Amino acid sequence: MIEFQHVGKDYPDGTRAVGDVSLSLEAGSCTVLVGSSGSGKTTLLRMVNRMVEPSRGRVLVDGRAVREANPVQLRREIGYVMQGSGLLPHRTVLANVETVPLLRGESKQESRRRALLQLERVGLDPLSYSRYPGQLSGGQQQRVGVARALASDPDVLLMDEPFGAVDPLVRAELQAQLRALQDELKKTILFVTHDMDEALLLADRIVVLRPGGEIAQDATPEEIVSAPADDFVRGFLGLDSAQRALHLQPGAAGDVVLDRFGRPLGVVPRAPQES
Ligand code: ADP
Ligand code: MG
Repeated sequence: MIEFQHVGKDYPDGTRAVGDVSLSLEAGSCTVLVGSSGSGKTTLLRMVNRMVEPSRGRVLVDGRAVREANPVQLRREIGYVMQGSGLLPHRTVLANVETVPLLRGESKQESRRRALLQLERVGLDPLSYSRYPGQLSGGQQQRVGVARALASDPDVLLMDEPFGAVDPLVRAELQAQLRALQDELKKTILFVTHDMDEALLLADRIVVLRPGGEIAQDATPEEIVSAPADDFVRGFLGLDSAQRALHLQPGAAGDVVLDRFGRPLGVVPRAPQES
């Protein structure tokens, strides 16, 4: 379980990246932080593995303040897929994925076993294991990034716009794969995106951030769609995006909101009939 208690971050130049955020992420569930660029998503996510120190408040992982933890240790225990692939360019795909278990003190043999398992799990062609990141497509690089984050079998996965740099078809494939992975592995995932459709697809819970790093709404996908908290969230859901990705189908209790795969997201209750 991860808990943010009244955290805030002001950068030295005076930028308020995060105002006052309190959140608890349930173990084994996927929480998606969604907000436009500059709304403090990366800053919040990086507080978990101490790549950013909050100016106010604290972050707990399994009841322990991360401030008390050794940052190097912490980063080895928490999987992190960063914006862009973040792969080491001069190491092969396999070497990139093996690095984390090796650093955690696993034997060469065990590290290789884990790396191969995860590379297979994310569906990467074995021919690419000996290639360098620069020789892979964007989508393949993202898969390696996910495999690397999974290689040490962490309980917690931080994913910062991991599918941002790939075309829509590959993106849909990666999203579907992450859902399948999550059904199987039940990690505690904090996933960051600026794309509400992606959030609706992946999240057990969505936290919408407004500029200045304040929570606009913290709710299930169904609630966000059927009862956006205010005009900001409504705007973020977007009429275009709603028409593109979501549609309504009349049902017994009200209109059922379906996503682009026809998956029901929730029900918009029908207003009481006037008699
Ligand atoms: P997001 O990931 O939602 O795009 P960030 O957390 O990266 O947002 O940034 C939030 C705000 O903090 C932005 O205004 C950004 O310019 C600013 N910011 C981020 N990192 C730094 C930094 N190291 N120094 C100063 N300002 C920063
Ligand atoms: Mg960011």
